[in-house]
Amino acid sequence: MPTLETLPFDNAFARLPDAFYTRLPPTPLPDPYLVAASPAAAALIQLDPAEFTRPEFAQIFAGNQLLPGSEPLAAVYSGHQFGMWAGQLGDGRAHLLGEVAGAGSGWEIQLKGAGQTPYSRFADGRAVLRSSIREFLCSEAMAALGIPTTRALCVVGSNKPVRRETIETAAVVTRLAPSFIRFGSFEHWAARKHTDELRQLADYVIDRFRPECRDAANPYAALLADVARRTASLMAQWQTVGFMHGVMNTDNMSILGLTLDYGPFGFMDTFDAGHICNHSDDHGRYSYRAQPQIGHWNLYALGHALSSLVGERADVQAAIEDNYTATFEATFMARVRAKLGLADALPGDEDFVGETFGVLQRLRIDFTQFFRLLSSLPAEVNEAERAATDAPLRDIVIDRFALDAWIDLWRARLKAEGRPDAERQAAMRAVNPKYVLRNWIAESAIRAAQAGDFSETTTVLACLSKPFDEQPEFERFAAPPPDWAGSLSVSCSS
Ligand code: AMP
Ligand code: MG
Ligand code: MG
Repeated sequence: MPTLETLPFDNAFARLPDAFYTRLPPTPLPDPYLVAASPAAAALIQLDPAEFTRPEFAQIFAGNQLLPGSEPLAAVYSGHQFGMWAGQLGDGRAHLLGEVAGAGSGWEIQLKGAGQTPYSRFADGRAVLRSSIREFLCSEAMAALGIPTTRALCVVGSNKPVRRETIETAAVVTRLAPSFIRFGSFEHWAARKHTDELRQLADYVIDRFRPECRDAANPYAALLADVARRTASLMAQWQTVGFMHGVMNTDNMSILGLTLDYGPFGFMDTFDAGHICNHSDDHGRYSYRAQPQIGHWNLYALGHALSSLVGERADVQAAIEDNYTATFEATFMARVRAKLGLADALPGDEDFVGETFGVLQRLRIDFTQFFRLLSSLPAEVNEAERAATDAPLRDIVIDRFALDAWIDLWRARLKAEGRPDAERQAAMRAVNPKYVLRNWIAESAIRAAQAGDFSETTTVLACLSKPFDEQPEFERFAAPPPDWAGSLSVSCSS
């Protein structure tokens, strides 16, 4: 296994022409210390977790020492923010170090919060400990849930003060992804009518990540169709785990269909389709229920940007329309069926799924607990015993009679399949997580870390790396928000 000094690099993005980025080193961070690191992320790049405890580890991932072979740079992009063209943005606080080669190849390493770049505008190039812990934990939690995402190797902190609403301290989160290219990376060149760079970037993505598009009659239309399918699938995965991104601007949309840029995200506690997790999103543009349409809207922003390469407008439209909605609906239905323990697709399932979300909404049920507790209920029950049998689920709602009526529908639907209980229950528990990164859990790790105790961050990481397992030692993390967390709000400030 390579050490920090022998990790091999091969930096394909840095071989693109200068126009795509500015080369510059990270800004050193005083007296850095390791807050937390992910063994699973280290394994991706074949880095030995024994390296975490070396003093060099914190120095390197604070940006104070360069990994040999890395070529740090900040990339340029533009984008639509809250539906409006925002013009040039870019890596205002991110440094791409390069791409790992050899056994752990295929992963780019990026520092977030390691100082200003030419794209920082008026901001400080830093990230605070609070938001870095949130991004670190959620990246790794999403990966463990099987949802496409950028990864996080570690968080390094420093006592350097950083001004937000209050004075906080600086941190750097190290992210890993095959690529951090965004929809906005294409919009950037299209807005400037720089067709050469637009084509170079599209060719780079096709050649490196989607070589099968090269065989299509129109490779750029094939790329757009691929992005449409992956984005649709991602939206269906978010919706069915109750994840809300919070800032689905086109500069935060991955061209590879990964969950990217964790800011004011949230997981649904009590179900409310209109829930807005980002306190700064006054009109609910990025509410839970809006996410699938926003994904569609963002694809049109990308399609518009790619239109000079694709050719006919009708081909841009077809690449999106022939793929997005159908992929979303099929993936969403397949995942909800699995959550409900249904193996077959039957007529009437759409109505039943609609009824399921209706009961979640009307009874304000905890989204994660609902599906997890449902997983243990038997398919058949005699009337005299049902109150006791169904108690685990019934006990989390107020109107038990309304819930009973829904459970009757569910049992009737299960009867149409006759799958053995043990098999169905195990299948349900394998898709309905017991543990997700609820806001209150992130907040408790953050508060401990701000007081100098990083062990809670590591404990939460350990729990969320096995979200589908019963873990009695972590039972407390399966709970809905405690009273103290009732008024937590999360804004764009990070
Ligand atoms: P976001 O809304 O976090 O995706 O950020 C939008 C843009 O602002 C991106 O180009 C970021 O790089 C940039 N940005 C956000 N926060 C900072 C910061 N503290 N310093 C420099 N640039 C930032
Ligand atoms: Mg340049
Ligand atoms: Mg961003």
